[in-house]
Amino acid sequence: MTAVTEVQSTIGTLRREVCALHAELTRYQLVVWTAGNVSARVPGHDLLVIKPSGVSYDDLTPENMVVCDLEGRVVDGQHAPSSDTEAQAYVYREMPQVGGVVHTHSTYATAWAARAEPVPCVLTMGADEFGGEIPVGPFAVIGDDSIGRGIVDTLRGSRSPAVLMQNHGVFSIGPTARAAVKAAVMCEDVARTVHVSRQLGAPVPISQPQVDALFDRYQNVYGQR
Ligand SMILES: [Zn+2]
Repeated sequence: MTAVTEVQSTIGTLRREVCALHAELTRYQLVVWTAGNVSARVPGHDLLVIKPSGVSYDDLTPENMVVCDLEGRVVDGQHAPSSDTEAQAYVYREMPQVGGVVHTHSTYATAWAARAEPVPCVLTMGADEFGGEIPVGPFAVIGDDSIGRGIVDTLRGSRSPAVLMQNHGVFSIGPTARAAVKAAVMCEDVARTVHVSRQLGAPVPISQPQVDALFDRYQNVYGQR
C-alpha cells in the first residue's frame, strides 16, 4: 500500500471504532441527548477522529465521524466536529502517549465535579483503575485552551486516567479510545458506589502501600497475558 492509502485505511478503521464505541456511552447510561463524545488519535499522524457535533447517538455512522488535525481544524468530514474537539486536540498535542479521549457528563461523577471534590480511594476498584483518588480539574469554559490545559495539568500529576472538571463533567484518556471509554465507565461506577457508601457512613480509606500494590498488580499482572 502507498502511504496515502495506508493512512486512509487506518482512518477508515478508526471511523468504525470511534462510531461503535459511542454505543458503550449509551449502554452504560453515561450520556443524554447529544452530550458526550469519543475521539481517537490517528497513530503516526497529527490527526484525530471524533464525533460530529449535535448528531444524535442513533444517527452516528462511520461516515459522519469527523477527521481533524491536532489544532481542531476539520480535515475530512461533512459535519462540524464536537464542540469538545479543541480540548481533546490539546490533550493529544501535549500527551503523546494518549490514543483516545472521552468526555461525558455522567451523573454521579459529575455530581462530585459540581462539588469540586475528588472521589476518594476507598474501593479496590478505585485503586486498580485510578491508582488513588479521581482528581478534580479547574473550572474552565469552552472557547480557548483552558479545558485542555486543565485536563493535561491535572492528569500529568496523577495515575488516574480520568479527571472531574469542576462544575462540568468527566474527561478520560487511554492508550486507545476503547481504554478511555473503559475509564469513563469505571469512573462513573466508582463515583456512584462511593456516593452510596457515604450515605451509610464514613468510607474507610485504603492505605497508600495497599493502593500502590493493587494498582501495580492490576496494571501489570491482571487479565489475559
Ligand atoms: Zn461537557
